[in-house]
Amino acid sequence: MIVRTYKVYSIENGTVIDHIPTPLALKVVRILGLENEGIMTIGIGFRSEKQPIGKDILKIENRELSHEETNKIALIAPDATINIIKDGDVAEKRQITLPSAVKDILTCPNPNCATNILGARKHFLLENRDTVTYRCKYCERATVVNPDMLTTK
Ligand SMILES: [Zn+2]
Repeated sequence: MIVRTYKVYSIENGTVIDHIPTPLALKVVRILGLENEGIMTIGIGFRSEKQPIGKDILKIENRELSHEETNKIALIAPDATINIIKDGDVAEKRQITLPSAVKDILTCPNPNCATNILGARKHFLLENRDTVTYRCKYCERATVVNPDMLTTK
């Protein structure tokens, strides 16, 4: 077996998000709202022992993501690892945890919900951490989060 080294170049300063399940890297970019934000390197479909279907890596240069931002990643990639890079070294290895409230980026599956028919602001509260279940603040429907429910504002 040929072992390939990672071809994603290293960064001096910024945030590296590793172990994103393939092919969700672009989804992560969208939920973080980073589309227009400086230099990013996206690697898709790396081989991973932990993730047989493959993993994506996202590197965001010169931007240290906040805890609030990186916790959003747990909605679709709970096993993602976050490294904050400063002067070429890992300055922080950060754990992520599901946010207790999610605004704007989660779409309610109830077609009659005020967030869908009246344009009310999307707002969900964490119901069950183990199953990644959130409850809509408007129609009170509980739902298990999947990547298709995540949208940009
Ligand atoms: Zn709703």
